[in-house]
Amino acid sequence: MSDTTAKVINLADRRAKKEHEARNAPIPGWIVWLHCPKCNTLEYSEISMPDGRVHKKCGTLVEEEEIQIDVRAEYTISMRNSKRLDELFRETKIPGFMKPLAKKGIGMLENLQAAEKEYRKRLENIAGGTVSPYQDEWDEKSLDMDLKILDPLGLILTEARQPDLHFPEVVS
Ligand SMILES: [Zn+2]
Repeated sequence: MSDTTAKVINLADRRAKKEHEARNAPIPGWIVWLHCPKCNTLEYSEISMPDGRVHKKCGTLVEEEEIQIDVRAEYTISMRNSKRLDELFRETKIPGFMKPLAKKGIGMLENLQAAEKEYRKRLENIAGGTVSPYQDEWDEKSLDMDLKILDPLGLILTEARQPDLHFPEVVS
């Protein structure tokens, strides 16, 4: 092998390695939880507003709590939740699935799925474009945080999606 060929291969290797690293690097971001003290409502926003903001519904200045996130980790977990919901959705279509529960159950799954999609849309807003998830081997338990598992569905909520951690006096 000539020196030139070796150099080209080396360069290609390095580029591939860099691309791999970029796809597997955390994307830092923030989620803000907003609490309206008048309406006692909680909602999240991906938009940081250093000068504060008011609740649209009542005009009261809201309390804010910023949570630092890894956008890619949040996105990956949300994708896994969606996959789980798809599976559960298919299970409810199996003939013989308890009928009275089915209707209520499907509505609940649809709401949860919509919430996951909405969350990923916000994450894309933060990242300023599409976000690629971590690879299948990536384990959410590698995150140093309290993950909440929603039983019996098996959905995972990161700390950024547990408002009770950030406003414990509101959610009890
Ligand atoms: Zn309000």
